[in-house]
Amino acid sequence: MNPTNPIETLGRVRVVLCNTSHPGNIGAAARAMKTMGLTRLTLVNPKQFPDPEATARASGAADVLENARVVAGLDEALEGTILAAALSARQRDLGPIPQSARQAVPELLQWAGQGEIALVFGGETSGLTNAEVERCQRLVTIPVNPEYSSLNLGAAVQVLCYELRQAAFADAPPVSSVATPFATPPASHEEVEGFYAHLERLMTATGFLNPNSPRRLMPKLRRLFGRASLEKDEINILRGIIAAAETPLPGAKGRAGEPER
Ligand code: SAH
Repeated sequence: MNPTNPIETLGRVRVVLCNTSHPGNIGAAARAMKTMGLTRLTLVNPKQFPDPEATARASGAADVLENARVVAGLDEALEGTILAAALSARQRDLGPIPQSARQAVPELLQWAGQGEIALVFGGETSGLTNAEVERCQRLVTIPVNPEYSSLNLGAAVQVLCYELRQAAFADAPPVSSVATPFATPPASHEEVEGFYAHLERLMTATGFLNPNSPRRLMPKLRRLFGRASLEKDEINILRGIIAAAETPLPGAKGRAGEPER
């Protein structure tokens, strides 16, 4: 893997389209990608695909459509990625702090220098759900006219791919600005999700999290750990701590965290 080669770096950026309703927009997105040197398209639960309208709108990018992966859920689409950025015109109460596309792109390229990343777009009807945004560590907005902020899906994909390409070729991202001393490789999406599930089980077992009244605990924790950009070793440490907390203390009655009877 060569983190400074812009062609290779752009090749590690996955475009994920969730719940699209118009196949034409899938084709337009494929065309937008290929003109900027991106090739990996993943479709989560598309209403209609494959479709002649998609092929027609893709024009010379039919190969991107042919190689597109179709999956049933966002977790599957994000498998193997080390960073995911949600694209939304709308502010969310929770989820990552929004950044403009131009602000976000240099960091996205640094991550793409190290592994696969994803740009996650919503469908035409209702965009991304809060749960989908919360699965991403970054939230990116294309700054627009506040009185009408919603771009066509294909146009939104074009803007992001354009910004990525300009930044990738303008100045190759510094190799080591994400890396820190003692760093281990970034954790993958499924490792991070495995940690959240484990943490949620512990918090439920100890009574810290009441599943009938969870408030906003998990989204807040997701935002906290999303900012931290967890590494593989850090996930192992955190899961080790949780596993230790689940183990009864020698001589203790009942399970850890369970009130004594
Ligand atoms: N009606 C939807 C928006 C659909 S536009 C809604 O209410 O959210 C389809 C997708 O294009 C969005 O989900 C988002 O991923 C992307 N998009 C459109 N305009 C955008 C903008 N200004 N900034 C970032 N992403 C945008």
